[in-house]
Amino acid sequence: MPHVTYLGFPRIGRRRELKRALESHWKGDTTTDDLLAVAASLRRRHWKLACDAGADSVPVNDFSLYDHVLDAAVAVDAIPDRYRTLQARDPLAAYFAMARGHQDSGVDLHALEMTKWFDTNYHYIVPELVAGQVFAARPGKLVGEFREAVDAGHRARPVLLGPVSFLRLAKTVDGSAALDLLDALLPAWLGLLDALADAGADWVQVDEPVLVLDLDEATRAALRRTYDAIAAQGRVRVLLATYFGALDDNLALAGALPVAGLHVDLARAPGQLERVLDALPSDRVLSAGIIDGRNVWLSDPGILQPRVARLLERVSADRLWLSTSCSLLHVPIDAAEETRMPSHIASWLSFARQKIGELRCYADAGTGDATAIRVLDRQRETLAARQASPEVVRADVRARVRGLTPQFAQRRSAYAHRSAVQRERFGLPDLPTTTIGSFPQTRSLRSARAAHRAGHLDDAAYAALLRDAIRHAVRFQETVGLDVLVHGEPERNDMVEYFGEQLDGYAFTALGWVQSYGSRCVKPPIIYGDVARPAPMTVAWSAFAQSLTDKPMKGMLTGPVTMLQWSFVRDDVPRADVCRQIALALRDEVHDLEKAGIGIIQIDEPALREGLPLRRDAWATYLDWAVDAFRIAAGGVSDATQVHTHMCYSEFNDIIDAVAAMDADVISIETSRSRMELLDAFTRFRYPNGIGPGVYDIHSPRVPTQAEMADLVARALQVLRPDQLWINPDCGLKTRGWPEVTEALTGMVAVARAAREGV
Ligand code: GLN
Ligand code: ZN
Repeated sequence: MPHVTYLGFPRIGRRRELKRALESHWKGDTTTDDLLAVAASLRRRHWKLACDAGADSVPVNDFSLYDHVLDAAVAVDAIPDRYRTLQARDPLAAYFAMARGHQDSGVDLHALEMTKWFDTNYHYIVPELVAGQVFAARPGKLVGEFREAVDAGHRARPVLLGPVSFLRLAKTVDGSAALDLLDALLPAWLGLLDALADAGADWVQVDEPVLVLDLDEATRAALRRTYDAIAAQGRVRVLLATYFGALDDNLALAGALPVAGLHVDLARAPGQLERVLDALPSDRVLSAGIIDGRNVWLSDPGILQPRVARLLERVSADRLWLSTSCSLLHVPIDAAEETRMPSHIASWLSFARQKIGELRCYADAGTGDATAIRVLDRQRETLAARQASPEVVRADVRARVRGLTPQFAQRRSAYAHRSAVQRERFGLPDLPTTTIGSFPQTRSLRSARAAHRAGHLDDAAYAALLRDAIRHAVRFQETVGLDVLVHGEPERNDMVEYFGEQLDGYAFTALGWVQSYGSRCVKPPIIYGDVARPAPMTVAWSAFAQSLTDKPMKGMLTGPVTMLQWSFVRDDVPRADVCRQIALALRDEVHDLEKAGIGIIQIDEPALREGLPLRRDAWATYLDWAVDAFRIAAGGVSDATQVHTHMCYSEFNDIIDAVAAMDADVISIETSRSRMELLDAFTRFRYPNGIGPGVYDIHSPRVPTQAEMADLVARALQVLRPDQLWINPDCGLKTRGWPEVTEALTGMVAVARAAREGV
């Protein structure tokens, strides 16, 4: 019988117990022991839950109080010097200082950098290394959690981030190459394996997700050296885990590494199955990641039963493991708790607990178990019902997508002509000032929204409060002297959820939390059906706001790529098609805004870059459909309607052609922290349209001085034409407070006015 396991489990807890425990600990309300007790009980509960669902073994050390990459750094003592004093006194405080900074009585420690974990919405802490770094094995956590699991009666498999992935994900602060540290790192890392072997570990899962990336020869050589060294030590059996894609050109390398088992992702990359089977030496264990760890859908037995049968044909049952494609960190815990969602939709879902149950079923059914076969037969029926649901497949939506022609993605005229028409219409000065959309979401606004949701505040009273907030925002902007106004987005909780709730085809969970970083979780909407817009979504608010002022009021939408990227997306339709459906729904909204007299419409795409595939050769296809979707949403409006977009990041060099192809009349981007370096990209390719490089870093409460903002404007003017440059903050202001926003925007307008004199 194949062995059933999974690569990792969500840590945060069904009801975000870990989040609560962490945050009350950080506030000083609970002791270290209180926090550690919650963590230990979550681990025990999750192992038990997995075994009850059918797992034969459990991963350990997949748990983390904050982040598993930070844990990997701590396990080899890669702690930057500035945290050492605190660490000597209080190791846990130093750990959290690395994760999120630490300020008290004269100590002011910045956090380490944080960045996206591959192409997921999870963020890891970037280890900070220097040339000559000294590493040492610190196996305490690892061994402790292993013993805990063994004591609880589980077959436990410690998980470690592999040395090569660790170095590839780390950064050095002195310009040296992280990979050069491999020789220094390996002895410490092998020390961890020694400690595990001493504690009785047999299998150890070593994650090397970099094996699904484009690798240079130095990295490949490092992988060979690492696994030769581990094999030479020979104290544990290594399951080399790859995930988030196909091995492709790294398959021969992975197949040749001297490990006891190889895990491959067969959910994202089912096409690699035969090649993997051919490349795998006959004494290896194959861990087949057949169940998708990145999505929330019940799997299709019509596809997976034959796949398991094929696996069993080529690999003997004692060498076959059935597993999740990657760690279950990226999905919520239990779909059975989604009792408030329409039950037919809930029945199509599979979260962590259900996924392990599915694996059990496939393993049992694969070896002829009648009960398991019956369960899978019922699952086929559930899936057939899903496909037959009139909400899932809608003829009208499908016909509209089929009817798309290149025309849909076109503006009527080229930018040069549009910009002349728009200049005439709006009469804006050079260096016009605007903001990105949201204004501070005050405590009273948030509690009003919560009360409205809970039914304690009626629709009329809530709407009256929102109108007050809009009135206040408009008056404020007029006083400050901004040129293009916004309504401030007081009605929005979240830029995706707000639209998803008004679109057909979206569902929302009650407890579908997924960790984003540390104690921060998100509850992504679920796109389960064809997306359509039953009614206008923003028109009334924007029209109301416009009625309060003679200045142009900017309409504010979330773009199709971001709507897709920040949701769980259905698995039965190509992502590109789902994106086109959303684009068409937004296009209707754009046209309705235009009809209501809104002359400037911003379509935010902060997630465009995040959608880039991990492999370079797949970028062009993605960018083609992503850009096309944006253009469909913005297409067809009059030349006099000015389309803006906004992206909150600063790396554009490698995607500038695509961004230019979006052909927005104006793009606002984040630049203040990088001091306008990114403008290189825009000038190098002579980006012709309007650009608003942020001059006000909204990520901190600090108010920038006018001199700083003036300096940024001057830098921008060195590379951009004055008629091209807009003056705005880096991003929306919803997390800021009114006093700082007032001071910063007043300064920003003064800087723009002074700069106009000079141009
Ligand atoms: N319009 C949104 C806001 O201002 C944009 C947010 C974002 O880019 N993430 O809040
Ligand atoms: Zn932004």
